[in-house]
Amino acid sequence: MLTFEHQFAELPEPLWAACSPTAVERPELIAFNDALAAELGAEARPDDATLAQWFSGNALPPGAEPRALGYAGHQFGNFVPQLGDGRALLLGEVVDIHGQRRDVQLKGSGRTPFSRGGDGRSPLGPVLREYLVSESMAAIGVPTTRSLAAVTTGERVARMRPEPGGVLTRVASSHVRVGTFQYAAVRRDEAMLKALVDHVIARHYPHLRDGAEDPALGLLEAVTQRQAALIAKWMSLGFIHGVMNTDNTSISGETIDYGPCAFMEQFDPQKVFSSIDEGGRYAFANQPGIAQWNLARFAETLLPLMNAEGDAAVEQAVEVIRGFEMHFARERQALRIAKLGLMEGEGERADTLTEELEALMHAGRMDLTATFDALTRHAATRDAETDLLALTTAPEAFTPWFARWCDALGLDDAPLDAERHKAMRAVNPVIIARNHRVQEVIDAAYDGDFAPFHALLAVVTNPFDDTPAARRLAAPATQSEQVLRTFC
Ligand code: AMP
Ligand code: MG
Ligand code: MG
Repeated sequence: MLTFEHQFAELPEPLWAACSPTAVERPELIAFNDALAAELGAEARPDDATLAQWFSGNALPPGAEPRALGYAGHQFGNFVPQLGDGRALLLGEVVDIHGQRRDVQLKGSGRTPFSRGGDGRSPLGPVLREYLVSESMAAIGVPTTRSLAAVTTGERVARMRPEPGGVLTRVASSHVRVGTFQYAAVRRDEAMLKALVDHVIARHYPHLRDGAEDPALGLLEAVTQRQAALIAKWMSLGFIHGVMNTDNTSISGETIDYGPCAFMEQFDPQKVFSSIDEGGRYAFANQPGIAQWNLARFAETLLPLMNAEGDAAVEQAVEVIRGFEMHFARERQALRIAKLGLMEGEGERADTLTEELEALMHAGRMDLTATFDALTRHAATRDAETDLLALTTAPEAFTPWFARWCDALGLDDAPLDAERHKAMRAVNPVIIARNHRVQEVIDAAYDGDFAPFHALLAVVTNPFDDTPAARRLAAPATQSEQVLRTFC
């Protein structure tokens, strides 16, 4: 069905280790992403039983060669020299219909040489969360890994309580992370590091391949720009990754590793969902600074390959890392302009209006997604003011800002023209995968009912469609519905 290649296997061990999946008792297919499969060049769809065999790891799809990948990483600021795929296996790479090489990986397929104390498994809950949230992010237009398949295993995994097991098939433009570079760097193996740099440049940054003066420095700059763009997108949507360790920072600039992630509802810069993030290191507002910190760790690994030596190399790297702030501010401003329906060239106005709005959303406990959705509706219909005022606990403070925004868009004279409104809608989803809805779906699945999963998936993957089905699942959680903790 898929035509596998194995370029990563040309890199030296121990960047990877061959390893077979461990069969599960009774695999059953929950979901298969036909649209993604078509993008990967799949032609005929095998029957569900075959898909369940392949994407549980009970049988290998033709051409697959499973490998666990090695990586290191800073977890919550502490360096761990060996992490690696402890419960994931790369089946191989597929060149998609656009000519892009993509990894296909099983997650939850059993122990590997990198498992340390872990069981190599994943509970079904996180499998469903990753499927929903990654596909929601992709549909919104955020660079992300994708979900190709989800299966139940028919086995239980021991967590705080026994839970049903699952396997997710993840598709990524690659699984190379900052931690992969740290893994090579900590071995002081310059040949391995150089091979990794060449692989990554050929795969993700081909413009650096031929005749680049300083490929290592160029790579740092390119990855810095992609991360800045990615984090700006997250911030515009209220997405909180939850575990921004260096091993979860993709070199391709995709969102990777949906563990305890969640979309923030009421705007709060200090918001944290993850049960393991006790110090709030990965709180919403910290994400740009953490990304920059992670890039500094990436830069350290590249120093030996840079043209300059010693302090001169460090200085150059520091300058590139500082540049993150500029790239981030530029991306953020472009998104602010779009989210408010303003025009190119109105950057300063967008920054001011957004900062004021954020203060109002915070003080008035306004839901981020619902606020921008209502602004988007108002720009077209001029009848959503009541909806907006209903979102805040402090309507009198909101009104003057709202008047200034209406004025900036000229809404007193006419609704926003169709083209600008389309651009505004394109960055303001009607629906995101809200935490309480994801949890509801997981609870139903644990009772054997997958219908809520499919219903939620259908609407979050069409996030800009204003339909009754979407509206039903789009509303912010009420006080009693709120799910404030997530687990990985
Ligand atoms: P994460 O927090 O998901 O980025 O995972 C951190 C590290 O723990 C990675 O090396 C994972 O492969 C490993 N890991 C997480 N869960 C398990 C598990 N159940 N069994 C083995 N390794 C695991
Ligand atoms: Mg990870
Ligand atoms: Mg994880």
